Amino acid sequence: MMPLLEANGLTKHYEVETGGFFRRTKTALRAVDGVDLTIEPGETLGLVGESGCGKSTLGRLLIRLVPATAGRVIFDGTEITELSPKALRAVRRGMQIVFQDPFGALNPRMSVEETVMEPLLIHGSRRNAAAREAVARMLEMVGLPNSARYRFPHEFSGGQRQRIGIARALILRPKLVVCDEPVSALDVSVQAQIVNLLSDLQAELGLTYLFIAHDLGVVKHISTRVAVMYLGKIVEVADKRSLYARPLHPYTQALLASVPITHPAQRKRGPTRETRITGDIPTALAPPSGCRFHTRCPHVMPVCRTEEPAMRTGEDGHQAACHLVPG
Ligand code: SF4
Repeated sequence: MMPLLEANGLTKHYEVETGGFFRRTKTALRAVDGVDLTIEPGETLGLVGESGCGKSTLGRLLIRLVPATAGRVIFDGTEITELSPKALRAVRRGMQIVFQDPFGALNPRMSVEETVMEPLLIHGSRRNAAAREAVARMLEMVGLPNSARYRFPHEFSGGQRQRIGIARALILRPKLVVCDEPVSALDVSVQAQIVNLLSDLQAELGLTYLFIAHDLGVVKHISTRVAVMYLGKIVEVADKRSLYARPLHPYTQALLASVPITHPAQRKRGPTRETRITGDIPTALAPPSGCRFHTRCPHVMPVCRTEEPAMRTGEDGHQAACHLVPG
């Protein structure tokens, strides 16, 4: 089967000014650095990594909300990297985004009906009975009452606002939805409701998701496969079962060890010395040489400081970029 989306060598460098008052120089901030990725139709690819690792930038690059510095993206058989704005607009119907912050993402002066209808109008529909009917159907699908349409974002809770954001993203019936940390800003009690809603909508509408999160616990139930990102690069990709049962990359092992354990019988099993990582993620202005994780890796070897590990593929297509993984 052809992937719904394929990225090759996808790169985003931002030029930033560094240095003191008298000697300012321009340096490339390597937010995303040569990412290869596929997303299959109907799956949920979880994308996980710490804040600042480039995962949100990657999500935006994949649907061309930001232009790439290098590399290409093929969506549904069309290369979108170089499309003209007009041609891109037509393709954009098929790929939408749900933002992290349900408070900041909605225009406070627009009613729910205007908010959810706006993408239809941008893509050429008229503000007519059919559009209003489409909004009503969408509100029902995301679990909001019809009376919500005349109210404004400030009248809703965080979870309800995220439902409005989801309705807005799905009104055009896209094929791919980038869910950019859609539950991170919500109370824990509401997070499961939104994840379940996204899961139900996926089954009902045949959606494909890229689900971004900073914690492997959040993506566990919804993902088909999981990709782990560190400092602008994908370091491991695998089928969910394989990744959680047998993580190969020391960074994934550390992320898994830090997932809160809710089952009392497992609580004693905290991070061990072999899995624990210390320190902050290094700056993307000057990523470490060799393996970018070597400054924090509990298994670092001399070769890790000089040679960047290639992505190696093992059983069941489980991929990891680490010198410890057999080639
Ligand atoms: Fe650790 Fe070396 Fe593997 Fe990088 S390549 S994750 S530093 S063991």
